[in-house]
Amino acid sequence: MQFYSTNNKDLRVDLKEAVIRSLPADNGLYMPETITPLPASFWENWREMSLPELGFHVAKQILGDSIPEDALRDIVNEAINFDAPVVKIAEHTHVLELFHGPTLAFKDFGARFMARTMAYLNRDDDSMLTVLVATSGDTGGAVASAFHNVEGTRVIILYPKGGVSDLQEKQLTTLGGNITALEVDGSFDDCQAMVKANFLDRDLMEKYNLTSANSINISRLIPQAFYYFNAARQLEEGKEPVFVIPSGNFGNLTAGLLAQKLGLQVRHWVAATNINDTVPRYLADGNYEPLPSSPTISNAMDVGAPSNFARMKDLFGDDWEAMRENISGLAFGDDETREAIKAVKANTGYTIDPHGAVGILAAEAWHQASPEDECIILETAHPSKFLPTMEEELGKGSVEIPERLACLADLPKEAHQVSNDPKEVQKFL
Ligand SMILES: *Cc1c(COP(=O)(O)O)cnc(C)c1O
Repeated sequence: MQFYSTNNKDLRVDLKEAVIRSLPADNGLYMPETITPLPASFWENWREMSLPELGFHVAKQILGDSIPEDALRDIVNEAINFDAPVVKIAEHTHVLELFHGPTLAFKDFGARFMARTMAYLNRDDDSMLTVLVATSGDTGGAVASAFHNVEGTRVIILYPKGGVSDLQEKQLTTLGGNITALEVDGSFDDCQAMVKANFLDRDLMEKYNLTSANSINISRLIPQAFYYFNAARQLEEGKEPVFVIPSGNFGNLTAGLLAQKLGLQVRHWVAATNINDTVPRYLADGNYEPLPSSPTISNAMDVGAPSNFARMKDLFGDDWEAMRENISGLAFGDDETREAIKAVKANTGYTIDPHGAVGILAAEAWHQASPEDECIILETAHPSKFLPTMEEELGKGSVEIPERLACLADLPKEAHQVSNDPKEVQKFL
């Protein structure tokens, strides 16, 4: 399989180039050159397959023979070693729980698949692959956990001093081994600039085999297509789901569109955002006007210029009408989101995090017009990751902290203090 740039379809690269380099030089995004629906033999028994089995068939269909079957099967089985259950919380309303991975957010799917794919693609190279990543929150934790102990790789994480929560910091700084954390005396933007400066240095990049674990890496999207199949198969046969997706950079929604291209029957997509509503506004009037982001309680969706929008446009051949026939966009403010957290708890007993709550609001709006549709809302993270907000709405002690997060509190932090000079990074290469 070859991959093209959304800015230039004549620019083709192989999987290794697309995954290790992450971004084409023309600033587009890589896309598979063809996406062919899964064959009849797959549809005969897909409803009986486990999540990793579905994952293997989906990945194989997208990647073709870029990775041999045995190796691909191993990558999928090792990466997706946790479940993504669908929980029915009310009539026609289901929650797809994507927080059962090690760092309690759906980003574990993408990061774990990417880590193993990168290690595989780099297996014959003498030099170790060095992943440089700047983080302001969840991405760094997912990436650190995903690459921890993966042979032939190491990770250097830059995070802003005082800019991440205590437990997030522990997720970055307690693993040790091939994971190095740099606590930067500066902002998140400084961290990103430091990473970028080192990437722009071609000599350094080649000498140390530098790569980025950027969220727009195509290998992060592929495993996110798996769980749409796994969720749809759990509905009664013949029912086509409406997927409701709390969205920021729109990676999740783009992965859903890949699943649809592979032949998954989906009735409709609902893109749910907080007040950072660039895509809902585009769907309403056809004008794409990114804005600076505004902070909200669903902060993983505080994105003003969604990075995967170029892929969405590409999948619809830049046809606004076609996109809005398939995707609806709805945006909600923090007050409504807080009310939704309380209402869901009171009416169903389910504890939903602020991102999922935005999805609940969108599903309710959808049901106003189409009450019989089966809505599946993606619960993108475990509520314990947003403890202050949850406790404000539901009371102290209302949210259980899973052991894999709670146990980090007592582990010692190991981070190197550095200034915001890009050269500081080179001491650790
Ligand atoms: C990253 C993230 C999102 C946004 O997902 P996109 O794929 O960027 O749209 C939503 N919720 C949580 C909890 C996240 O971590």
